[in-house]
Amino acid sequence: KSLYMIDRWGRGYFDVSPDGNLTVAPLQERGSKIAIRDVVDAAIEQGLRTPLLIRFQDLLHHRVRALNEAFNRAIAESKFRGTYRGVFPIKVNQLREVVEEILDAGKTYHYGVEVGSKPEVFAGLSVHTDPESLIVCNGYKDDNFIRTALIGRKLGKKVILIAEKLSEVRMITRVAKEMNVEPMIGLRVRLLTEGAGKWKTSGGENAKFGLSTAEILAAIRIMDEAGMSSSFKLLHFHIGSQVPDILIIKRAVREATRYYAKLRKMGQRIEYIDVGGGLAIDYDGSRSTFHSSMNYSVEEYARDIVHNIADICDEERVPHPNIVSESGRAIVAHHSVLVVQAFGSIEKTPMSPIDIQTEEHKLIQNLLYIKDNISGPNLGESWHDLLQIKEEAQKMFELGLLNLDVKARVEILFWEIAENMQKIASSLEPEEVPDDLGELRKQLADQYICNFSVFQSLLDHWALGALFPIVPIHRLNERPAADSTLVDITCDSDGKVSKFIDLNDVKDTLPLHPISGDQPYYVGIFLTGAYQDIMGDIHNLFGRVNEVHVFLDEDEESGYYIEETIAGNKIHEVLALTQYDNRDLVGKVKAQVDGAIKQDLLKPTEGMRLLADYERGLKDQTYLSLTSAP
Ligand code: PLP
Repeated sequence: KSLYMIDRWGRGYFDVSPDGNLTVAPLQERGSKIAIRDVVDAAIEQGLRTPLLIRFQDLLHHRVRALNEAFNRAIAESKFRGTYRGVFPIKVNQLREVVEEILDAGKTYHYGVEVGSKPEVFAGLSVHTDPESLIVCNGYKDDNFIRTALIGRKLGKKVILIAEKLSEVRMITRVAKEMNVEPMIGLRVRLLTEGAGKWKTSGGENAKFGLSTAEILAAIRIMDEAGMSSSFKLLHFHIGSQVPDILIIKRAVREATRYYAKLRKMGQRIEYIDVGGGLAIDYDGSRSTFHSSMNYSVEEYARDIVHNIADICDEERVPHPNIVSESGRAIVAHHSVLVVQAFGSIEKTPMSPIDIQTEEHKLIQNLLYIKDNISGPNLGESWHDLLQIKEEAQKMFELGLLNLDVKARVEILFWEIAENMQKIASSLEPEEVPDDLGELRKQLADQYICNFSVFQSLLDHWALGALFPIVPIHRLNERPAADSTLVDITCDSDGKVSKFIDLNDVKDTLPLHPISGDQPYYVGIFLTGAYQDIMGDIHNLFGRVNEVHVFLDEDEESGYYIEETIAGNKIHEVLALTQYDNRDLVGKVKAQVDGAIKQDLLKPTEGMRLLADYERGLKDQTYLSLTSAP
């Protein structure tokens, strides 16, 4: 458990059972623990295969409650006079079942939704039913966007259109007039406080969105001139997602509240301060200001927002506003786990030594000498000699002076000796290991081939170097034998995971167990519920993975049931996305089969059988069909 730091990033949701299975407790200590391996087996019995995305829906409930209650407690503690009205930004995970589950969990708290594009406003309007909760509309807008949002106003909903730029204020007032409805308008202020981490450019002077101080004043004039001076209801800011440092959040809240206070003093009856997203996830468990972590808790986040808003409002003698936050990552990241099957490994050293009789060659003699004489004290010197021989062998080969059998023997001996060195190095105190040998561990790492696509399922790792906890979901009572990296099945050398979480830094390898012949080996990629499945692309046409939605059920012996299964993309579906029509594909292959029959390359019966195979194959799933390790 400590090897994979499960207690640190797992936050009471994830644990290891005595029989070595990784378990999830969607309600933390209050509910049952589900062995993830059992869910995988049950899904396979229902006809699904890995890669498999498992959503623990009760965990969503738990997160929504945790956030709302943290704010409500903070409000009660500081005798704050406003309320908390959170909204879930559906761009973080738009899946209908996820959004509906979140709204269901948030009913008692009047928890609403945030939308940021035209398709999202259409979705938001339909799933939102509570007139007390908000629909916050961010993102660039056109007439259709605004009109759709204002349909919500006509239906009595609290839909707030946030202007990202001045021209949008004009558009909103114009369309509202045309529709004869009073809009609720928010202004996004461009704070000088910059975020931190990977998404820090969402804030600061050069941010893509937001109004400067002069533009806010101009926006107020536009609303006044349109006779809609009471429509300005909300002041919004967002300094970026995954803000690891609470000090930055406090600074931004104080800066924005100062705007609120000054605007209230100018007579603007703003009702809400919206602090945007940014509440981070401790992906690496380090509880630090590293970009994959956070140095605060949800409770501290809520307390600091409430306290700092109250502090400035009291100082400026203006009413306390209602507080809106748009936390996405913090609500959904924990609830889904991607399970992939590692089905083979690319090893540096061959499993069984190949018997090559080349011992008399000078290079081999030198290597054998190093092999017989390495020890702790001469580790550095031996490593340099080893590298020099490898280089010499390569040069000789390029000049045509080395036959393949000697080259093969050099390679085998090189990795064999390197592995021995690594063993000796790991038995020494860290300060006794020469610096040069740091690279050796990385070079010796095996690559486990996993049936998934980094581009589809772990896009932030590929694009931004974001880290996710990765842990085998079973065999955790066995000591892992290999330091490995993971490679996916796309034809792209970037399709790999070679950076892993670590308490103090980032690790280049992950300890994994040997893959045994007939048993599948499953690895879980955790905290993937935010952004990953929705941002994924169809590089190599792999597309969506299989998915199951799991609910707790105390009456079931297993403690859970699978409520829904969603099959991953079939081959013909992803081909259709790139304009290959299914019938056209079959028609063209049939013409080629007919041609081959005419030329006597195929017998008619065989030709028709092959055509049927092709047609059937189109309905197969895109990922590899692995029943067990080969
Ligand atoms: N609100 C806005 C305007 C955003 O751009 C984002 C994402 O960057 C969010 C909310 C969600 O942020 P997070 O997932 O950090 O809570």
